Amino acid sequence: MARNIEIDEQITVGDLAELLALPASKLVAELLKNGILATINEKIDFETAQIVVAELELDIELAKKDRTQLATKREKHVLSDKAEPRPPVVAMMGHIDHGKTSLLDAIRQAEVAAGEAGGITQHLSAYQIEHDKRLITFLDTPGHEAFAALREHGARLTDVAVIVVAADDGIKPQTVEAIRFARNAGVKMIVAANKMDRPGANIDRLKQQLAENDLTPEDWGGETIIMPVSAKTKEGITELLDMILLVSDVEELRAEANGPAQGLVIESHMEKGRGPIAVALVEQGILKAGDFITVGGTHGKIRNLESTGGKPLKQAGPSTPVIITGLKCLPDFGDEFYVVTSDKIAREKAKTITEDRRSGGVITASSSSELLRIINRTDKLNELNVVVKADVQGSLTSVIQSLKALDTDEVATRVVGSGVGVINENDIHLASTSNAILYCFHTTLPSNIKRLASRDHVPIRLYSVIYELLDDVKVELEKLLAPEIIENELGELLVKGVFKTSRTETICGGEVIKGKMALPALVRVRRAKEILAEDIEIVGLKRGPQDVKEVIKGEMCGINLKTTSKLNIAEGDRIELFTRETKTRTL
Ligand code: GDP
Repeated sequence: MARNIEIDEQITVGDLAELLALPASKLVAELLKNGILATINEKIDFETAQIVVAELELDIELAKKDRTQLATKREKHVLSDKAEPRPPVVAMMGHIDHGKTSLLDAIRQAEVAAGEAGGITQHLSAYQIEHDKRLITFLDTPGHEAFAALREHGARLTDVAVIVVAADDGIKPQTVEAIRFARNAGVKMIVAANKMDRPGANIDRLKQQLAENDLTPEDWGGETIIMPVSAKTKEGITELLDMILLVSDVEELRAEANGPAQGLVIESHMEKGRGPIAVALVEQGILKAGDFITVGGTHGKIRNLESTGGKPLKQAGPSTPVIITGLKCLPDFGDEFYVVTSDKIAREKAKTITEDRRSGGVITASSSSELLRIINRTDKLNELNVVVKADVQGSLTSVIQSLKALDTDEVATRVVGSGVGVINENDIHLASTSNAILYCFHTTLPSNIKRLASRDHVPIRLYSVIYELLDDVKVELEKLLAPEIIENELGELLVKGVFKTSRTETICGGEVIKGKMALPALVRVRRAKEILAEDIEIVGLKRGPQDVKEVIKGEMCGINLKTTSKLNIAEGDRIELFTRETKTRTL
């Protein structure tokens, strides 16, 4: 029976070798065989370990140590008795054009939807409003992928998801996606039936559809809360906000209201004259201007602390979205931040995180799927090299995560480079040397760079709507798919005599016993079950002395085959005729 060994999410090669009672060099060699260069002190992830252990055929089964503690570490922040109620964090999700942005606007009484490209919310940012003398934080989501990426960081960012559905359009694929996401993340859900002012709005049909998706409405005896609203007339907005507060009250949301802050980066970008900018959500404690912080692999002293509306703040408590300046480098989307007591500690902590990432970085979170791909690689896997540029880190993560979702066993995108900011010479150089397409999201293309790209024949695709970008990649991936080959059987001839055989041709005669003989076609010659020859071309067809194009079942005919080597057809063999066509495939 296989022996069970429990390991953590990540383990060094040396430690794993010890557990397996193997020389470390053997493990290193096995990893190398699989295309992974890792030294004894470097970490590999669980899935990678599992694959190499299986390949070594040690009769050992690896199991992951209970991760619930790890995964929910952040959620289960042990609160002191000084913890106080905190505002709920609410995410708006839903199908494009169903009114997410308009609803967020109606709530914050501003007008950003009008100028937005393609009418879709691209950036993850956040704002806070006051309703009924209580605060609510809203997150503007770039896409569910970005949220999924955040969840990978082990964080549970939102307390309530508002699923926006246009009542005149009903449930759409992205709505179902959003529902699934909210369910998986275990967050409370409220369905906002938007566009109730429209004549086609039909809330009963929507309820029916929700019921079909396991979301039986409250008034039908289920648990799904449905709030009819209109972003246009503002009908139902107050009730929606009341409901958000009510739902969050049940959750009894609390956080440390004192002490050093910690939280998460939800967006980052460079700003002219201000340097790296992070939009972050405070989760615990009080964040103050002048605090020393470590943010992922970078650190700094908070120079300006602002609300997402740009108002200077002295301090910010739990659930507050803030803008931070003063960081040394651009942090990553999803990075955690911690306030520490000195610049030195901040720097050292950031250094440790960077080193940790680097040592684990040879094999990152995606490495196990990467490894599986290497192991399962068939010659069929075709990769599309891409370089991705985006305006902000949130969008970049979103685009890259969404690209991964397009991968299949046969075709996949390989992101050979990515970055935030204006397209530059390096991007062109990288795309050119790696034969990649440069996909740019919400970024600009300076004319000198455009010239460079055309000189180097680098294709550049500029997009401001993520779905359009993804559609383009899909088309490119489809071009890499091997075409589908379809064979059409035409008919079968029973050979009754062979008239002439040479190195280049064979002429024989017989009776059509199935279908028909027709030109042009390909031939397969069969003797009982054995195939004597295949893919031979048929060059002539005769009925009696006459050349014909077609002979049908029951008739006798002569057939002239073009052969490359001598083919010994004999009486009793069967000649099958077929055509072959190739069809381009879609993803
Ligand atoms: P998003 O893609 O989900 O962010 O959708 P938008 O907020 O950009 O809205 C898509 C379109 O629907 C825009 O033309 C809006 O003006 C319109 N819209 C949004 N909410 C309402 C509403 O409550 N009533 C009506 N009549 N139109 C709306």
